[in-house]
Amino acid sequence: MLCWFTAMLVLAACQQAEEDVSVEENEEGENTVIEEENESEEEDENGSTEPSEEEHTEEEPEPAYTLNENNWGLEPIDDAEEEAVLITIDDAPDEHGVEMAETLEELDVTAIFFINHHFIDDEEGEEQLLEIMEHGHEIGNHTMTHANLQEISEEEVEDEIVDLNDEIERITGERPNFFRAPHGANTDHSWEVVEEEEMLGMNWTYGFDWEEEYTDPDALAEIMVETEHLQNGANLLMHDREWTNEALEDIILGLEDEGYDFIDPTEIEQENE
Ligand SMILES: [Zn+2]
Repeated sequence: MLCWFTAMLVLAACQQAEEDVSVEENEEGENTVIEEENESEEEDENGSTEPSEEEHTEEEPEPAYTLNENNWGLEPIDDAEEEAVLITIDDAPDEHGVEMAETLEELDVTAIFFINHHFIDDEEGEEQLLEIMEHGHEIGNHTMTHANLQEISEEEVEDEIVDLNDEIERITGERPNFFRAPHGANTDHSWEVVEEEEMLGMNWTYGFDWEEEYTDPDALAEIMVETEHLQNGANLLMHDREWTNEALEDIILGLEDEGYDFIDPTEIEQENE
């Protein structure tokens, strides 16, 4: 009797989860005409609905993508959707991080927000960090001060990385799973520290929002979708900036129009798995 009751509860929860994601599928349906998508998408989306919102459980979804350390793209494991990209937002949470987190959540996209300490060193910054998490996003380490790790001592490299993890854990209760070096400037020692901290370090495939010509939202939205670098598994770099915030919805919708799905960071295989 108890088993039956539990089973019904689980079934009800699954149905609820499916309802939550069905809106996106319907809206997307017209644009994504790739047949092979249908099967794998259901599995992906059921998995990806689990860790969001308030209830953080110990259960992570099965890894569906693995990071290619030669080009920083994501490759599907087994039957995960190939035509998908990862969204990452660096230098957060500055002026627009929370709004960007909201926009992405409304569009059913989960991103990694790479954090610097100088943005979370007061009460407002701490609250913004928590809000970004509450919108379902993954938190990454982008160092304490946005230092160039190739220009400081090994001890300073450790402090840049480990001290930020300590701070993020103090504020959120969790240590980050991802690391990105400022300017993509890694060193042998920084990789060692990242590994000791059990994080997955990554650079990116492409981004444009730091180039003068793409500080215009329309120009940025266009290049992010039309660039020749857009390909399966691309790791897209954007920043917490005014023009990127303004372009964000158009970028996501444009990528969807091109047939791309979005990789949930919790589905990326960690090094120690
Ligand atoms: Zn940065």
